[in-house]
Amino acid sequence: MLRTYLQIGAYHSTPRYLNLGGFLDFACSCYSGQVSSLDELGAYFQFVRSEKYLEDGDSRDQFARRLVREDLNAIECQLKDLSQDTLSLYMQPKQHIFEVSEVARCSLQRWLPDYTIPQIHFVDKLPAPFDNQQHHAMNIDHGDFVNYGIEPGVYFLNSKLRPVYSAYLYLHELGHVILGRRSPEELAFGLEEGICELLGAFFLAFQCFSPSTVRNLFLLNRHFGSNSRHWEYYRHNTRVLAPLLARYGWQFVFFVLRGGRAKLKQIEDAVYSGNWTIPELDETNLSDDVGKVLSSLLADNDTYVLSARAFYVARFVTPGITLRELATVCAIGEDDVREALDELSQAFSLVTMRTDGTVVTYSDCHRLIKLTGIVRYVI
Ligand SMILES: [Zn+2]
Repeated sequence: MLRTYLQIGAYHSTPRYLNLGGFLDFACSCYSGQVSSLDELGAYFQFVRSEKYLEDGDSRDQFARRLVREDLNAIECQLKDLSQDTLSLYMQPKQHIFEVSEVARCSLQRWLPDYTIPQIHFVDKLPAPFDNQQHHAMNIDHGDFVNYGIEPGVYFLNSKLRPVYSAYLYLHELGHVILGRRSPEELAFGLEEGICELLGAFFLAFQCFSPSTVRNLFLLNRHFGSNSRHWEYYRHNTRVLAPLLARYGWQFVFFVLRGGRAKLKQIEDAVYSGNWTIPELDETNLSDDVGKVLSSLLADNDTYVLSARAFYVARFVTPGITLRELATVCAIGEDDVREALDELSQAFSLVTMRTDGTVVTYSDCHRLIKLTGIVRYVI
């Protein structure tokens, strides 16, 4: 259960690491004890704070080990803040899915009065012809019923149920449910993933989780494993819609959902041709929650990604500091500092060095590292 507890805590703590799967693997592999209760989880966190935790590490991963320790401390604090009821709900993904399903129904019926909750299926294998796919969750609509005889609804693979994450994915699937009911004969494609993210990962998620948890879920959702290229399809199609969301607000999302996949394809044709005007909608001021969506979309990037070593050192870099001073303040060797500074200057010009390489002449590290969740390290 260690991984389950840590995953719940991770969604409540701003991620400094890029990839949640890698972080959890690392955090679990450094401990040989059993964790099947909150007391045993306390013993795990105590171990992480001990000197032995650092000593056990290979010198190559000493920086990741230090950063992971700090992130685990933050996760421990977040877990302590969760009520017993919330924690036990999160430990039961099926129950959690039913709970968010009801919250979503109340919210959606205000915008789409004909909305009803879809069937929810928990299966060991997805129905054919999707049975060799490994999706955590997928929506089967009426078109699939006509073509393959599969009962419509949202399907979850039992083996892939995860705390918090499964309920969050369910909210995304509801976008496919709504569009599938309106346009069952058309396949989900392109911007549909973006609309489902805006609806599920933000609009509905804001009603089920705190704004900071929504942001963490979004940032980690598409960076769970190493296959970021696959998820870039989802992330790209969400970003494409950002200008329309900023201009028209949430009514834009429901305008598309009411219009079905045909409307979505019209919008796709329009925006890729440079037309960002929807004559049927009035422009609105940017609301706080739309602003939060936009800043999460900006934070969700592969640009500001550093090695653990460069991330570790970046936090101590200030203009005018010498290489030797940095080595002292970071408590590491000068060679590691030099390589970290090389990365920071080459990756995206975060620092400049005096020509002899011994003094930092300019640095943006302090400012950028303080922007939560923007710069992240890879494990
Ligand atoms: Zn989807």
